Amino acid sequence: MHALSESSLRPLSYREVVAKYPEVPHFIILKIDVQRRGVTYTEAALTQADPARHMLQARSIFHSIGEKESLVPVSLLLRDGTSILSGPRPNATDPYVVDFIDGRLVLTDHGEVLEEVEYWLKPDFYDRLTSSGKPMWQVATPRPQRLDINPYAYCHYWDDGKGCKYCNIAAHYNKERRLNNKPLRLDPRDAYESVREAIRQPGRFLTVGMTCGSILGDGELFAEEVDIYIETLQAIGENFTTRRFPSQLVASAFSLEQLQRIHEQTGLLTYTSDIEVLDEEKFNWICPGKAVRPGYREWKRRLVDAVGIFGRGYVNTGIVGGVETAKPHGFATEEDGLRATLEEAEDLASKGVSTVYCVWVPITGSVFHKQQAPSLEYFVRLAQGLDSIRRYYGLLVDMDNYRICGNHPDTDLSRI
Ligand code: SF4
Repeated sequence: MHALSESSLRPLSYREVVAKYPEVPHFIILKIDVQRRGVTYTEAALTQADPARHMLQARSIFHSIGEKESLVPVSLLLRDGTSILSGPRPNATDPYVVDFIDGRLVLTDHGEVLEEVEYWLKPDFYDRLTSSGKPMWQVATPRPQRLDINPYAYCHYWDDGKGCKYCNIAAHYNKERRLNNKPLRLDPRDAYESVREAIRQPGRFLTVGMTCGSILGDGELFAEEVDIYIETLQAIGENFTTRRFPSQLVASAFSLEQLQRIHEQTGLLTYTSDIEVLDEEKFNWICPGKAVRPGYREWKRRLVDAVGIFGRGYVNTGIVGGVETAKPHGFATEEDGLRATLEEAEDLASKGVSTVYCVWVPITGSVFHKQQAPSLEYFVRLAQGLDSIRRYYGLLVDMDNYRICGNHPDTDLSRI
């Protein structure tokens, strides 16, 4: 094991981390650091963004690109197929820069050229309209090989201000509703038609991902959320001839009965429910709504229940990697945060639940927007740790691998 360089005066730079961890491909280290620090584009790079070929517009529950403002590339692809979900980062203070130099699009850091990049290519269905007149790019957000559907645009943990402190969904929804008339609910028929058109393109898409904010309801917890997912999954499922279709639901922690209902009534293949922070005390502080309904231990118990329904290798949980070090109540040292996170991830893996992480970005619109993410080295070791745990317990990562998702450095590592 490598010790984190916390005792040194400054965190290691990208080049230093690459040198210290030769077993980790530099593509993955670069992906992490671009997400950590953000990215901007020179004028020369933007002239290479072609609206006829590249994705310059996207609408998700956490951010929108190209709704009315000037068009920028939605995200980046590295030479080995590694995706960088770059997203908008208006508060980035030291971003990487994409430039166009000597006929190549390149990622640069303070003028140093590091790697070639490509902009994500636009799929065929992108500019088509549904029969109700909606642009399909607003209904199904494409990644290089996955379609993302958001049936509901808000999270009701924010009703009493108890949303997760790193999350901007409420601020984003309120802004988009005001500026772009963004609907709260997606019409399942629009989802059906957009998926129908998307999968006509041979070889482009591998799977359909679906997520929305949590809907708590007045009666049985999450009952309405379950109903919305069932309705949307059934509509999308009409496009497939097989009983189950390639799909991932990223949703609240449903009860055993709710999970059984989804499994029986839809063609859903895999289930994810994000625990977000793998430590009960930190979770209670960072995710105060989830801490009460249904609570940390119950969230984990429900994940294990889901393995009994969907099967080993078909259930995982996401964490917001690094947020466990947020101030003032997070882990005091990166070493402590890493140890605690990996211990609990191992416990879940021993019960058949895999853990994947996204890089924590202290994003505008979240409570934590002025915080600082941990060091690049922390994220590299987190990726190594989660990958090692999965290998030890023989857990497949295909439900969330670099092609299907592309937003988890640890599953990028699992392809090797
Ligand atoms: S559950 Fe937390 S992370 Fe998920 S949408 Fe709601 S506030 Fe955001």
